[in-house]
This record gives sequence, C-alpha cells and structure tokens, in this order.
Amino acid sequence: MKVYHSDLHALHAPAFEIFDGGEKIPSFETPERVECILQALRADGRFEILPPEQWSLDPIRAVHDEGYLTFLETAFTDWMREPTDYEKTALLPSTFALSRRAGRVPASILGRAGYYMMDLSAPIVAGTWQAALASAHCALSAARLISSLRSAVQTSVSAFALCRPPGHHAGRAFCGGYCYINNAAVAAHWLTQFGNVALLDVDYHAANGTQDIFYERADVLTLSIHADPAEEYPYYWGYADETGAGEGKGYHQNFPLPFGVDDTTYLKTLERALERIATYRPAFLVLSAGMDIYGQDPLGRIRVTTAGIAEIGRQIAALALPTVVVLEGGYHNAALGTNLLAFLEAFHAA
Ligand SMILES: [Zn+2]
Repeated sequence: MKVYHSDLHALHAPAFEIFDGGEKIPSFETPERVECILQALRADGRFEILPPEQWSLDPIRAVHDEGYLTFLETAFTDWMREPTDYEKTALLPSTFALSRRAGRVPASILGRAGYYMMDLSAPIVAGTWQAALASAHCALSAARLISSLRSAVQTSVSAFALCRPPGHHAGRAFCGGYCYINNAAVAAHWLTQFGNVALLDVDYHAANGTQDIFYERADVLTLSIHADPAEEYPYYWGYADETGAGEGKGYHQNFPLPFGVDDTTYLKTLERALERIATYRPAFLVLSAGMDIYGQDPLGRIRVTTAGIAEIGRQIAALALPTVVVLEGGYHNAALGTNLLAFLEAFHAA
C-alpha cells in the first residue's frame, strides 16, 4: 500500500495548547504521533512511503475561503511584527467573532485571529502554514493515485495519506481542534471531477469542518460517527438532525454516540453509515481515520478496542470502493501504530 508522508509536518510543533478550563498544557497533537506511525509502517514492510507531489493552491482554494488562507499564510509573520513586551512563540486569539459581525474582518492580527479561529487548540507557529500545505498535498497525492489506478485497472484501490496536522475540524473559513486545512475535504473535492464522493469520518470527534464545507452539496455525501456533541467537543456541530441544506439536503449524516460505547454498538452504527454509502453509489470513498476512538485514548471516551478498529476497517473495505484513507486524530502514541495497522489491514487486499 502506498503512503504519502512529508517531513515538513515537523515544522508544526506548538509547545502548548489551552485545554479545558483554560489550563496551558503541552499539545496532544505532536510530531511524535507521525514518528510512531512511521515506525509501525516500516516494521510491517508492506507499505511504500512516498513524498507528496507538488500542487498549486487551486485545489485548496476550492474548499477554503481566500481570506482565511491568506490569514493562515501570513498570521505568524504578522504576529511576530506586533510589538509586545513578552516573547512570542505562537498566535492564539483572546476574543472570538461568534457571528462574525456581518463579515467584517479586522485589520489587527489579534482581531483576525479571533475571526478565523474557533478555539484555543490550533495555535499558529512559524511552520504551521508549510506543514498544513504539505499535509494537504499528501491527501491530494493519494487522491490522484487512486483516481489514476482506478481508470487503469478497473479494480478498487486504496492509498494512505499520513496527514499531520489533521484537518477535519477546519471549515471553509476557520481553523480549530489542531486542524488548519481540511485535508480530507480537499481530496474529496478534487475527486469530484471524476465522480461523486462519499466522505466517511470515523474520528472520535464530530467532523464539523467537513460538515461546514460540504453542507450544501450533493456531489459529496458526508457522514460522521462520533461522540455526542451535546457532551463532547466540538459541541456546536454533529447532531443527528443536521442533514444538509439546499442542494445538499439529505447528503450529510451524523451518528452521535454516547460515552462508553463498545465495539458492538459502534459496528452497528457503522453498518447504518455503510448502508447509506452503498445507496449513494459513489465513485470514490475518502475516509477520515481518527484513531482516538480507541478505548485508552487520552482524549476519547468511547471504548473501541484494537480488534474493533480492525473490524471497522474490514467493514469499510468491503464496500470495495477506490479509497483514500486520511489520518485525523489519535493521541495514544504507544498504541497508535498498532491501531492504524489494524485499521489498514483490510485495505491491502481491497
Ligand atoms: Zn479526534
């Protein structure tokens, strides 16, 4: 199986995040996550690890707001130029735009930060833009590979994009939850030039950014299985009655789960999501694969086991669709490689 990975991910390494209740803690989303995964993939021996191809900004502009992308690219430099009497390592806002004040973007860098950031867990550091771009390029390269192989050999194929930073909390014009560019959404949109796409998100957290991007589109069916947002981050998206709008009505589906669900309940829910995908008959599948559904994940509160993760992979691979697997969350570093290998196992044969 081909894996797209860029060393540039390591340029994004915020020293901290602001956690629940305002505590400043070391970030859970670290470069070590990727090192753990690479180690497991290399030890397995069945993965070919490739650098991403170079891409223009166009496929990223296709799903993200132009002003937001300019902000991501320039925010750290602008922040460093701002005179302060303390040392600066990362940009985070202290205010949030909420309703975005009728689209008025402030000139101030702190004002813009509050406008484009949804929370305090996506600090922008010196290398964030470069790392986020490389991460999106991994997803795009995997998408291009499966689209080309599909037409060449007429069988289902898959590729893995080892994306970091992750992407599914990044919306059309906002970052948050460790995410800046929505890698899965960029890949899914790019694939729509060849046919309809289903984007299934199995990360522990609701795919609010993906939901935001595709909510009014019927050519990308989006589905997300996640902890109930009534109790869990990202709180304001991911409810069962959010089913799309306009042309996209009926093309978004959320599957909120209570804390503590086990493999059996999870797999029953997955079955419903897979039935919907089968009815939709997409040409491609993009999978937002978050390993924080694992029972011992420090950020998760559902109880899926490694065996359960393997079965989730098998059930999805049984759709036999050309598939791009995109890495999202997963913060139990000691088990991250094992869980991901278990998940990807079925896609070797697919
Ligand atoms: Zn997550």
